[in-house]
Amino acid sequence: MTNEPEVELTTQQPCPRCGTPTLAAVTVPTRNTEHSVPQYATVTLCPNCDRHHPAPEVQGVIAYFTLNEHISTDEIEGAGQVLSDWARYVAAHPPVYNSDNLDEDIEAWARGEM
Ligand SMILES: [Zn+2]
Repeated sequence: MTNEPEVELTTQQPCPRCGTPTLAAVTVPTRNTEHSVPQYATVTLCPNCDRHHPAPEVQGVIAYFTLNEHISTDEIEGAGQVLSDWARYVAAHPPVYNSDNLDEDIEAWARGEM
């Protein structure tokens, strides 16, 4: 993996917060002071939970997918623009995880809650 954000489209991955299928996911490197090796975090975009997100980059992706429920090959360039703006935003504001959060997430996942 490089240090560039990696965007995944239409992951069909349920939102960890509400279970709604997410629109897209982006994996970004995070700066974790506890570890010297690079850490990565995957951020999902949920049409439900992120509806009131303050960032225009997030709203741009939601607006795009609201207008274009399915992305055809012809539309992929327009999607690429809003998604790369969003990926840059996430990379600039990576989620902050410490080991405790991660352990809790793993336990919740193992219990089938995520
Ligand atoms: Zn959600």
